[in-house]
Amino acid sequence: MTDKRFDTIIIGAGHNGLVCAAYLAKAGRKVLVLEAASQPGGAAATREFHPGFRVSSGAHLLTQLNPGVAKDLGLASHGLDYAARDLKTVALAEDGAHLVIDGGSVSGVSGNDAVAYAKFHSQNRRFGKVLDGFFSRRQPTLVDRSWDDAFSLLKLGWSLKRLGKEDMQDLMRVGLINIYDVANEHFDSELLKAAVAMDGVLGSHMGPRSPNTVYGYLHRHIADAWGNSGPALVRGGMGAVGQAFAEAARGFGAEIRCDSKVARVEMQGCHATGVTLESGETLFADTIVSNADPKTTFEKLVGYPNLDAGFSRRVHNFRSRGVSAKLHLALDTLPDFRGLDAALAGQRLLLAPTMDHIERAFNHAKYGEYSRAPVMEISIPSVHDDSLTPAGKHVLSAIVQFAPYALREGWDSGKEVFKRIALEQLERYAPGINNRVLASELSTPVDLEREFGMAGGHWHHGEIALDQALLMRPMPGAHQYRTPIPGLYLCGAGSHPGGGIMGLAGRNAAEAVIKHRKDREERAA
Ligand SMILES: Cc1cc2nc3c(=O)[nH]c(=O)nc-3n(C[C@H](O)[C@H](O)[C@H](O)COP(=O)(O)OP(=O)(O)OC[C@H]3O[C@@H](n4cnc5c(N)ncnc54)[C@H](O)[C@@H]3O)c2cc1C
Repeated sequence: MTDKRFDTIIIGAGHNGLVCAAYLAKAGRKVLVLEAASQPGGAAATREFHPGFRVSSGAHLLTQLNPGVAKDLGLASHGLDYAARDLKTVALAEDGAHLVIDGGSVSGVSGNDAVAYAKFHSQNRRFGKVLDGFFSRRQPTLVDRSWDDAFSLLKLGWSLKRLGKEDMQDLMRVGLINIYDVANEHFDSELLKAAVAMDGVLGSHMGPRSPNTVYGYLHRHIADAWGNSGPALVRGGMGAVGQAFAEAARGFGAEIRCDSKVARVEMQGCHATGVTLESGETLFADTIVSNADPKTTFEKLVGYPNLDAGFSRRVHNFRSRGVSAKLHLALDTLPDFRGLDAALAGQRLLLAPTMDHIERAFNHAKYGEYSRAPVMEISIPSVHDDSLTPAGKHVLSAIVQFAPYALREGWDSGKEVFKRIALEQLERYAPGINNRVLASELSTPVDLEREFGMAGGHWHHGEIALDQALLMRPMPGAHQYRTPIPGLYLCGAGSHPGGGIMGLAGRNAAEAVIKHRKDREERAA
């Protein structure tokens, strides 16, 4: 008979659930991770979508993996291997006059823009260092403060002061405006402005003129502060990252059970005491940690009857409407992007000509329509990794925006039309690409919700707007990884500091669980 009592049960084996499991197991806890899908990793996944063609079916570029987490968990020794690192970003132009961003330098623009970009990049790295101090630990709270919170706030104040007066003023100012205005202030090239704006809106229900897009940009560029100069491609696709996290967690003693969907959190009085699976099996633990997004956790697994009205309203109002679709193409040969040196085909390619174009593409999403001329982030990983396709063939993966979760006409009829629009858009930049397509697949936010169990198919499990970020993430009453239900914690992208394959939410949550337990034991002694 299996022992059904654990110190901690983690709902979900997304990378954050696995990171949390690893740190807790390392600290000596008996940890069980329950995953609905048949493999661990969450949206860090590789899937065969056409015979012989495999693709990263959720996240596709490793942009923000925290080096401290990777080191603590020994991910390299658990099979994490890069096919390419420090990718350049190529902002594609329809006429072939592309520009190339390589870390802090950019080519294909005027001398003034090149100098302005270098300055912009180095200032953002300094801002990133401030954010890093904030991302790498439990966020403080302004009420019910502890010594720990006071220390975090002091540290934040000190790192802001160290920025110097000019940077500090700039950070306060840009945080309150939008990426559209910021890019206009710095650059002349429309293509460069659009490339910068894309980093502010990818994965978010926002256009360049929306508030919070500068925060979105800084969030995405946090890894610049860790010394990265561009995203990486993982050999075997992102599923290999999920597997490496899972091996690390197992290595510290955590048990992972796949095909084990949790139906509800069990309560005794107001305390979380266990979970019941869809199979009907009930398992018990002192601590339950949810890697599922906040909406799923509170609406479905806990249930509104177990929450007070005010908190239930916050959960209900939490914004998690995804706008990113995923396009996968099996290609007979490498596509020819007009004017693009073949040596650059394996880099990160952006298809977004101007900021106004992005804004117009976003406008449709506000009204429940898909963009008629969508913008894209494209990767052709098979250029660097021949394990993904048959010899000589290629696979293209693109994030296509904007595709609103709640499409007015419904995705049943909208999906094929939107896929055709995306293919037509690609054809403008890579003439003949459609003749090379052996198979294609589009995953809408509704499909992504189904495949990865993330509410709304949202990149971050919920917008990272300022009212849902930092001190407020995901919502008052459930910040600092604790929830109104004693014994229930959050550890996923919906908690601080948000999404991306980063690992910090999982690590911070584990630290919060350990600290809370220690405080309780000290109080009881
Ligand atoms: C289209 C798209 C493209 C993206 N591209 C990138 C990218 O290129 N780079 C990047 O860094 N990030 C990208 N992201 C974001 C990134 O994938 C997420 O932020 C990240 O996966 C969040 O990790 P997580 O561990 O918190 O949650 P998830 O990866 O969502 O994992 C949560 C896990 O919980 C499980 N679960 C949920 N409910 C239950 C239940 N009831 N019982 C058991 N298990 C359950 C799910 O099955 C899942 O495995 C992208 C996201 C999307 C949607």
